Amino acid sequence: MSSEHRRLPQPSPFRQESYSPGELSGECGKEWQSMKINTNEFVEVAQRELTNKRTRTLLDMISSVVDNLRDSAMSSFPDPSAALEYGRAIRAESLARLPELLDQFEKNAVAHGASVFWARTADEANQFVLDLARKRNIKYVTKGKSMVTEEIGLNDALAADGIDVFEADLGEFIAQLLKRPPFHIVGPAINVPVDEISALFLKKGLIERATQDPVELGAAARRYLRQKFQHLEMGITGVNMAVAETGAIINVENEGNIRFSKSSPKTQVSFMTIEKVVPTMRDAMHLLRLLCRNCTAQKISAYVSMDSGPKKPGEIDGPEELFIVILDNGRSAIYANENLREALRCIRCGACMYGCPIYMKIGGYPYGWAYSGPMGQVVNPLLLGLDRTQHLYRACTLCGKCKSICPGGIDHPKLFLLYRSMDVEGDVQLKGQSRPWLEQKAMNILSCGARRAWHWNAGVKGARPVVNLHARGNVISQMPLLGGWFRCRDLPAVGRKTFRERMKETGQY
Ligand code: SF4
Repeated sequence: MSSEHRRLPQPSPFRQESYSPGELSGECGKEWQSMKINTNEFVEVAQRELTNKRTRTLLDMISSVVDNLRDSAMSSFPDPSAALEYGRAIRAESLARLPELLDQFEKNAVAHGASVFWARTADEANQFVLDLARKRNIKYVTKGKSMVTEEIGLNDALAADGIDVFEADLGEFIAQLLKRPPFHIVGPAINVPVDEISALFLKKGLIERATQDPVELGAAARRYLRQKFQHLEMGITGVNMAVAETGAIINVENEGNIRFSKSSPKTQVSFMTIEKVVPTMRDAMHLLRLLCRNCTAQKISAYVSMDSGPKKPGEIDGPEELFIVILDNGRSAIYANENLREALRCIRCGACMYGCPIYMKIGGYPYGWAYSGPMGQVVNPLLLGLDRTQHLYRACTLCGKCKSICPGGIDHPKLFLLYRSMDVEGDVQLKGQSRPWLEQKAMNILSCGARRAWHWNAGVKGARPVVNLHARGNVISQMPLLGGWFRCRDLPAVGRKTFRERMKETGQY
């Protein structure tokens, strides 16, 4: 590793300091810009998406087809539940040994000729790529399969410096042109209808006449991007897994663009976050099996690239230099909190989305950022703060479907309940907002009533006439001071008699 690229102190990249979330930069005036963080618009966007016929049709189709496909792919394991448990054990071990594994990974990656840069923050990671591009006089880069670069706003940072960024994955390319966050972790633009893509490509000059033929549209995008690949000087990709034992980085994909991106340019930059490391190649192979089955219901993706260092003497393909950026961006603070650490087990397979009744009603846009669905509900509050993401962890039925299928072994509902309590208690690290005095008192009274039966019965009798004043028919959909709560909920009117009174009347009590 060149010392030029090493800034964090040895031996471990972990820093125990308070987290400062990475902010995406503002409007950069460039056409090729990243998404903005809109997590606080969850309710408005969800309401809009609920009435969007195209979203509804697509999600109805996905929920009836993809979940079954995933189940059948998982059943190709001799013992699916043992395979799931093994994956969870690997992720648990990876986190338990994280500092040691990262050091091992670095040593091995460097031994293969890679340069490793430890970035504490989004700014440090972006600045590293900018400096590198400036030194090599690079004018454009292609980028693919990297959610973490969305997290840190790399596209904006590069664009602000006059460097064009081209998303190499077709779905990401369309989402980039539309300036929208990904609709789904696997299919970022899966919801965009073909006529909209056609109009977009026409406007951007990728096609000369309108067409709704998906093959023609795909070919147009390929022609356009291939020409970028041919003259590529810098490729940027994510990392699905980093293997401590060998120093190899692994990417899975179905379009072949990552392969192009990694084999054509002189300079390759691979971005990974600290939790991407796994102990051995054997572990990585098992997680890969789980990832592909969960993600796209494939036993293995069409392309799997494993890279150990840059091109060696005598090799035809591969970059002349490989930089691996290992990004913290607040994760060491998450890691230091044993209650939150489990959120780092996510392998980004997206299986939790397919099962989630909330995601399947509203799709990916309401989550307002790179990470959506249950995994976004888990990760976004940790990266952005509870104050900006409260609708996310509250928009959950606590049904536990995501937990039951998660190959990383994350207990999503437990974390959502934890976020809620950290929020109401005003947790400083995660920017919780302690509740207003009136709300705290109301909750104290409610909890006091719920602890004693006679309190509760007396309370219900006393409150019934007042509460029912607001009933329309048999439904209460608004009450003074509770406008926020009723914004997306309603209640049945309180019955004329309590359950206990009815039992007494029938002589059963
Ligand atoms: S527990 Fe919540 S996030 Fe998980 S699947 Fe159920 S509704 Fe979705």
